[in-house]
Amino acid sequence: MVTETFPWEQIGESHRRRYMLDYSFEELAALFRDWGYKDAHAKTVFSGLHRKCYRSADEFRPGLLPKTLIARMKSPEAPPFEVFRSIQAFPSGDGSVKYLYELQEGGRIESVYMPFENRTTFCISSQMGCALGCTFCATGAMGFRKHLTPGEILGQVLHMRRSHPDPPGQTYRTNVVFMGMGEPLHNLNNVMHAFDSLTDPHGLVLSQRDVSVSTSGLVPKIQQLAGFDRRPQLMVSIAATSDEARSNIMPVNRAYPLARLLATLERYPLRKNERIMLSYVLIAGVNDSRDDADRLIAMGRRFPSMINLIPLNEHESSPDLNEPEEARLQWFFNYLNEHGAFATIRRSRGRDVAAACGQLSNQQLAV
Ligand code: SF4
Repeated sequence: MVTETFPWEQIGESHRRRYMLDYSFEELAALFRDWGYKDAHAKTVFSGLHRKCYRSADEFRPGLLPKTLIARMKSPEAPPFEVFRSIQAFPSGDGSVKYLYELQEGGRIESVYMPFENRTTFCISSQMGCALGCTFCATGAMGFRKHLTPGEILGQVLHMRRSHPDPPGQTYRTNVVFMGMGEPLHNLNNVMHAFDSLTDPHGLVLSQRDVSVSTSGLVPKIQQLAGFDRRPQLMVSIAATSDEARSNIMPVNRAYPLARLLATLERYPLRKNERIMLSYVLIAGVNDSRDDADRLIAMGRRFPSMINLIPLNEHESSPDLNEPEEARLQWFFNYLNEHGAFATIRRSRGRDVAAACGQLSNQQLAV
């Protein structure tokens, strides 16, 4: 029997030097105890890093920490603060901003800041490139480069918070979505470490529901995620309603076909009022027929769900895939809602700077 091996099965964890942002609060407290300092000092430093978004030991107000601790944190053997070597901003005409980060360890990743009324969304990357190879996605065309570490994941959020503070006297709700470069569940350990820091009471204190991960359907990893008591919201990219069509545009479907994926989602333990978000990239002539709509509605009925329609954002790596006409998108959207589904349309932000869903690839803005 010939067993197909998929690229994401051959990639292990990446190991390298740890940065300050790679430490959970408990790990930082243990490090400080080793150095002879108190947990209270770790609380001050963790909150400075994660709430105030400090990027060096010099930013702590004089008197807040012992001078000897500041000196220790600046010494060459201490974990470095800055995970990025350089950062470039590419503002879009619609108010969103795409950021391109050069990692200290080499390579580039991207994230997108999206402002809404009283709410801010940060779309972040979990990997450099991606091994899953969905044909409608520019990141997939890059291939896999590396798993991002917890610090490299958190660094994106904290840089954007620092660059876009809430207006004085107001607190905007912050959403973090793992929908940038990479398949977050392929890098589950580091993503969950970053999630724990984002929701840590000493840090940003985001709620579990303010953080979402979007997966292409890695069934064993969805099952693993289900086992965590505290976990982000689950979003699943469906993109086609038959195995044949889905395998054509999402190779992951050959390993985990729709029947297995949907059966896993039926068993996924949801919290009160929680729904699984099904993302559906609408592609002209590929997945926008009435039969597709009927099958998608039937899928959505199998568990509490919400369907998010995303009109394809065209990119050079897939010249054969086209965005649907607006009239077709509206017809598909209305048909779903008129037949009992709970559907929305997500208009991508930042298309003019290649920051929209499926467009992140480091290519258009190479420096
Ligand atoms: S859609 Fe997501 S899983 Fe698929 S190739 Fe792009 S980044 Fe990877």
